Amino acid sequence: MPSDSVLVLGGGPAGMEAARGIASLGSKVVLVELRERLGGTPDSASYSSFALDHRKVSDVLTAMREEIERSPLIDVRLQSRLTAFEGKAGDFKATLTNIKGTSEAVDCAAVVIATGFQHFDPGRETQMYGYYEYEDVITLVDAERMLSAGKFVRPSTGEPPKAVCFIQCVGSRDRRIGNEYCSKVCCGISSKEAIEVRELVPDCKVFIFYIDMRMYGFWEDQLYWKAQEEHKVQFIRGIVTEVIRRGDKLVVKGEDTTMGRPVEAPMDMVVLSVGMEPSRGTVEMSKVLGVPLESHGFIAANGAPLDTVTTPVPGIFVAGAAAGPKDLEDTVGMAGLAAARAVALVRRQAGTAQPVG
Ligand SMILES: Cc1cc2nc3c(=O)[nH]c(=O)nc-3n(C[C@H](O)[C@H](O)[C@H](O)COP(=O)(O)OP(=O)(O)OC[C@H]3O[C@@H](n4cnc5c(N)ncnc54)[C@H](O)[C@@H]3O)c2cc1C
Ligand code: SF4
Repeated sequence: MPSDSVLVLGGGPAGMEAARGIASLGSKVVLVELRERLGGTPDSASYSSFALDHRKVSDVLTAMREEIERSPLIDVRLQSRLTAFEGKAGDFKATLTNIKGTSEAVDCAAVVIATGFQHFDPGRETQMYGYYEYEDVITLVDAERMLSAGKFVRPSTGEPPKAVCFIQCVGSRDRRIGNEYCSKVCCGISSKEAIEVRELVPDCKVFIFYIDMRMYGFWEDQLYWKAQEEHKVQFIRGIVTEVIRRGDKLVVKGEDTTMGRPVEAPMDMVVLSVGMEPSRGTVEMSKVLGVPLESHGFIAANGAPLDTVTTPVPGIFVAGAAAGPKDLEDTVGMAGLAAARAVALVRRQAGTAQPVG
């Protein structure tokens, strides 16, 4: 008898939305998450507020989590991972193993991979920014954590900073380190964080050093213009080559490419806008499921731009940042499509699918 369940791997925004979509169409879901609770990277990294509307991340994720937990059609397996997999579309056999080492067999008709991303480690190849050397050099993610605690201070002194700069494209758009793609969200997120820093520490000057600012849709006027016009954040087109310490200041050295002259700017804090890389779980799931990775190391989707969720393996779909850098709009859009495709497969197996047209 064909299975009427869909296996969703990863309980971040993509996995939660896919599970919610599948259940709302009347099919069963087994939702597998490595961590001790649902919520994904915005939860594990304690993001502060979401662009565009600055809603608190914890409020948004709690609402999603509660909806999942209430659904009679969604079975959640926390602290678990997929360890073995076989079969064909409509009739897969999966083995899930939890943190205690207990294994469970699950039959499913389709799989949605939603295992997400990880942040680029700025100490890995970009030593010139001194992330592991200077306490006051932090990342976009560290800044989210501080902003969500409502306290933005220099780690070295505990005092509010007087001058902060963001450095864009750390770990993205860089042939040298092998991440040639743009991470899509960091220009918007640094503008959002810059606004929040100005609100929290009004006499702190905030600068953003960028190669070119990449904003999509409404992020242009609602984050980028707003940061400049209402919050007086200063955007400097330039390339930062080095961060050094001089006395109790950090000195940012580089070139202002608009003016064509060298820059040396003393700062209290430097925020590195780190990009998105495929998570370890994404790479691991590609091996267990036998789904290929595309050239940047994310899960390959076959039919983009019109079909962003179908992988080369029939019955296996992908959603969210497991397929490449994504904001939340892209993530939940993909998750909804993956849910529809997976449920269509369940119904075809059960012989209850309606022909199109
Ligand atoms: C600093 C920063 C701030 C951001 N802020 C915003 C914002 O304000 N607005 C916006 O639109 N976007 C924002 N984004 C982008 C947003 O975080 C992503 O779009 C979103 O998290 C992608 O969701 P996801 O579920 O695909 O991946 P993730 O959030 O990474 O979730 C993946 C989940 O899968 C789990 N997992 C991994 N491997 C396995 C496995 N093998 N088995 C089971 N589970 C596994 C992980 O534990 C995790 O829970 C931001 C990104 C960054 C870097
Ligand atoms: S979104 Fe902006 S900071 Fe991020 S990689 Fe693209 S251009 Fe660089």
